[in-house]
Amino acid sequence: MIAPTPTAARLWFVAQWGGVVITLGLLAGLILRPELSLDILWNLLIPLVPASLLVTPMLWRNVCPLATLNSVLNRGAGARKLGNGLLAPAGVVGMLLLVVLVSARRFLFNTDGTVLAVTITAVALLAVGLGAVFDAKAGFCNSICPVLPVERLYGQSPLVRLSNPRCTPCTMCTAKGCIDLAPQHSIQQTLGDERVSARWLLSSYGVFAAAFPGFIIGYGRLTDGPLSTAGEVYLHMAMWLLASYLVTAAFALVLRLSSGVAMVLLGAVAAGLYYWYAAATITAAFNLPAGSMLAIRGVAWALVAFWLTRALTGARHAVNGSVRP
Ligand code: SF4
Repeated sequence: MIAPTPTAARLWFVAQWGGVVITLGLLAGLILRPELSLDILWNLLIPLVPASLLVTPMLWRNVCPLATLNSVLNRGAGARKLGNGLLAPAGVVGMLLLVVLVSARRFLFNTDGTVLAVTITAVALLAVGLGAVFDAKAGFCNSICPVLPVERLYGQSPLVRLSNPRCTPCTMCTAKGCIDLAPQHSIQQTLGDERVSARWLLSSYGVFAAAFPGFIIGYGRLTDGPLSTAGEVYLHMAMWLLASYLVTAAFALVLRLSSGVAMVLLGAVAAGLYYWYAAATITAAFNLPAGSMLAIRGVAWALVAFWLTRALTGARHAVNGSVRP
């Protein structure tokens, strides 16, 4: 982990609280100008997140407004660590929240600004509350945050390294797998002993990662509908999650992929699929010329290809070192 210089710490501080102010503006916009605000959020800001995680997970983790709010009461009474016993169940909660909340975009959050604003506010209050009970990022960012599983997958081989202004010094708030400490080891530490054999496919994070490409395809193949379609949406998503898991498991077993190489491939496939669908959505939302879709896909896939090349080299070295099955 890189400690920030005094100047960098000041700049991060401005960026963190700037993010909170922007979020407050977004919440107001979701209620007062929902159509425009939903477009800006879902079709402009959110599509930048996966690419930024590929470049470095530290940019998002350093400026995420929920992480900033999580730290507000942090240095007060709460100092509970996230030990091994709580780590796995908290991770499962985060993965379930991701699946449930993102799927709900199709029948709720993509079209209802007020409900989305209330939900974001509730999650923000939860982050503040958990920050008061747990040390540093143990209560939210490193445990039940629904973005954490994606941060791990896309952030496993950062192209650039950034300092961490939130943890000076590190208090070891989380027993293992902290992305801020070592993004390239976070998944392997999360998998634990399962990482060294095909049993990684049965671990909770292994199941999530194997099913994630299907999650993206499932979401991309749906269109927005009313609340009454919620059951159909979840059934559709469940089918794609299952199909993705089975296909991944078959490939991993037949090709005898190590968990390290499999995770890199899953990250690249998921990111590539994400921008396949996002390019079409962005082009339609902002009435961009038809060539824009191709351009967005081209730029995104070039980034993914570069990331994949570097990440595979790192994963093979790791496999040749300590985690070969
Ligand atoms: S760097 Fe240390 S204090 Fe910060 S989140 Fe990670 S384990 Fe916790």
